Amino acid sequence: IIKERKKSSGYFSKNYMTKETLGKGAFAEVKLVVNRMSGEHFAVKIIDKSRVEEHKRLLTNFDSEKSILGRVKHPTIIRVKAIYHEERYFYVVLDLAKGGELFDRIVEQGHFTEDETRIVMLQLLLGLYYLHKQGIVHRDIKPENILLADYEGLRVQLADFGLAKIVGEQSFMKTLCGTPMYVAPEVLKARGSRMYGNKVDIWSLGVVLYICLFGFPPFSDDLSPPPMNQQIMQGLYSFPSPHSDRISQQAIRLIKSMLCVDPEKRISAKQALLDPWLRAYQEGTTWRI
Ligand code: ADP
Ligand code: MG
Repeated sequence: IIKERKKSSGYFSKNYMTKETLGKGAFAEVKLVVNRMSGEHFAVKIIDKSRVEEHKRLLTNFDSEKSILGRVKHPTIIRVKAIYHEERYFYVVLDLAKGGELFDRIVEQGHFTEDETRIVMLQLLLGLYYLHKQGIVHRDIKPENILLADYEGLRVQLADFGLAKIVGEQSFMKTLCGTPMYVAPEVLKARGSRMYGNKVDIWSLGVVLYICLFGFPPFSDDLSPPPMNQQIMQGLYSFPSPHSDRISQQAIRLIKSMLCVDPEKRISAKQALLDPWLRAYQEGTTWRI
């Protein structure tokens, strides 16, 4: 599906008109583009090759992202349309998520209702279930990497496979990466030696679930000590009132089963999809994804 083109520079710009910047990440700048032929809008992730060549890690990152995105096809995951490999830059053309980051929507609204949260979680769990079934771990689940497909509504899509790695039988992931606030305890404890698997995504999604409902994170250095790393490794989080008064016990129970320190006991994507709180949506409200 990915058409790789090693053509003279300007090939990308012959096909696409570049508009405003949509976002910046650790490794790339993302811009809005218009296809000159069709007039269709896309996003393009522009990666500076000089940076890539300077830092071999970035290259590995890019290659892993490229190969993973080529294999992945699911409504909850941003699709790669084309990759242009030119003199100075890599251009990765992506489906445009018009609604921007989930993070900004949460901030705008303060927090989501349970119905809204359920819709978001259901889609993300379907996406994770799909990835995990194929042995892919995202490893960087956080609201900045969860995009809204449209200006309105809550259709969500996972972006940024920069950190994703295929979990092979021998090559379990050992690298410490990801954003501390969303990082699973086993990753913090591992310190490069122990192995960890796809449950790290469930933990991160548990943090996202908490933030959706409460409007603030479960772990943070702004709170009372111990430091955030310790809070995470010990599973020290609470459901403070008055916020918790409007949140159902079923929702709290799902948070607890996702934010479970022991990855063995932590719920899987498949099990979470059978959760009664999530199924309350599937069985008969008027919400549409
Ligand atoms: P990085 O690997 O550098 O973090 P991302 O893929 O996460 O790069 O992209 C950085 C930001 O660009 C995202 O947080 C988001 O705001 C924006 N962005 C990325 N992909 C898209 C897309 N397909 N549609 C709209 N905005 C996007
Ligand atoms: Mg990102």
